[in-house]
Amino acid sequence: MLNAVLRKSFSKSACRRFASSTSLSSENHYDIIVAGGGMVGSTLACTLSKNPILSNRKILLLEASKEFNWKPTEKYSNRVVALNPNTRKLFEKIGFWKHIENVRYSPVCKIQAWDALSESMISFDSNNHVDEVAYIVENSLILYAANIENQSLHNLNIINDAKIKSCNLAIHEDEEIQVELENGASYTCELLLGCDGVNSKVREAMGVQYVGWNYKQMGLVATLNLSEDTEENRIAWQRYIPTGTIALLPLNTKQSSLVWCNTNENIKQLLKLSPEQFVDELNSALWKQYEKNDIVNQATKCLGSILKTLDAPANIMQQLPPSICSIEESSRAAFPLGFGHAANYIRKGVALVGDAAHRVHPLGGQGVNLGFGDICSLDEILGNAAYSGRKLNNLLDLRKYETARQRHNVPTMLALDGLQKLYTTDFTPVVLLRSLGLQLTHALTPVKRAIIEQASH
Ligand SMILES: Cc1cc2nc3c(=O)[nH]c(=O)nc-3n(C[C@H](O)[C@H](O)[C@H](O)COP(=O)(O)OP(=O)(O)OC[C@H]3O[C@@H](n4cnc5c(N)ncnc54)[C@H](O)[C@@H]3O)c2cc1C
Repeated sequence: MLNAVLRKSFSKSACRRFASSTSLSSENHYDIIVAGGGMVGSTLACTLSKNPILSNRKILLLEASKEFNWKPTEKYSNRVVALNPNTRKLFEKIGFWKHIENVRYSPVCKIQAWDALSESMISFDSNNHVDEVAYIVENSLILYAANIENQSLHNLNIINDAKIKSCNLAIHEDEEIQVELENGASYTCELLLGCDGVNSKVREAMGVQYVGWNYKQMGLVATLNLSEDTEENRIAWQRYIPTGTIALLPLNTKQSSLVWCNTNENIKQLLKLSPEQFVDELNSALWKQYEKNDIVNQATKCLGSILKTLDAPANIMQQLPPSICSIEESSRAAFPLGFGHAANYIRKGVALVGDAAHRVHPLGGQGVNLGFGDICSLDEILGNAAYSGRKLNNLLDLRKYETARQRHNVPTMLALDGLQKLYTTDFTPVVLLRSLGLQLTHALTPVKRAIIEQASH
């Protein structure tokens, strides 16, 4: 709110008053260096460059890969993300959304998740006080939109094929941060923002504690052709099976995108199958009737009756997911899944953003949304700092960013990790507890609203 007021009242004279104190004479010196130009780094660079209070700051974006030349084609990319409504707001503000809208995206009006080992399910839809719960967008399309917007920014310099070899962080007050590339080039800055993903060089240089583990699972993605043309393919489906989760994310009336999380061994086998065999396996995993435990069945039925008498939605009325007829050629690919969290996101003159700071299991579709949430917070805090005449590397300001984001990210990450663990067992007491929990959550509208709100920030 404060930032919005500041942005409106910010005048050109104020821009001059807070002109960068850095040595602009040195062409390799920048006020801000963004390390890593993935979805998070490219968006962060654009957001800060477009912040009117920071418009006189020199920003450099360093990305290891070659220039991004992707152009939209009729064929969908196999990598998509489910963006939350807050991410859409950010994209609208910085001009990405119009490019995405011009190409394509798929709004999700309902999410239905259900347990293969019991009758319990949960759904989130527009009745839970939001019009659309998520938007499915191709990763490449986000980068494409970022590319168009970033190219027009006078205060942003982008260097591709620029792999960071090392970062020398400032120890004393007046020292600059130095970033050295593998090709020998080097740059200095007042503020270094690490958006260089899970194996972040910036995080390594900070020497922060990092808690991480591998789920011994992979996420298999593919573009699926549905058996029937579904006029309203607006539902995201997620089935919890004993070996992991299967999610179908709508793309258009005939296609959905798959994220199948399963053990490393199973995924390796699934990748080896012919397309026809793979489709059979997938349909079987989506539709297979697992033997249900009597105790769990009785308990969920009993809870269902109690909820009915209380006039709460007693669920059980599941909608049926679509079945799959084929997959797009060569669209299968798999990615290792892990958890990771940096105990500190900041130190003087440095901050971690996106997967460099936190990595989650994709079962809740939250990973990159957390990164976009980091961007909103950092944009506001740095804007306020610059407006008040403070340096961008001010530790107290960066601390505000860390506190705000960890307060949001840590509970979300723990909830996702808990869900992952809860749903990869067929141990009856756990199945019983999670089924009753899911059923209760489904019935309690305020709880569902709270979950949607947490997932949207
Ligand atoms: C199967 C799967 C499905 C997912 N689905 C969803 C979803 O539905 N919703 C969601 O919110 N999230 C989802 N995620 C998570 C999401 O993909 C990640 O959170 C997101 O990609 C992280 O973006 P990032 O920019 O922080 O990191 P990255 O995408 O890892 O980008 C880091 C960038 O830094 C560059 N880089 C790395 N090292 C260097 C270096 N030394 N020098 C210079 N540049 C460097 C890299 O080239 C890269 O461009 C999913 C993840 C997986 C695996």
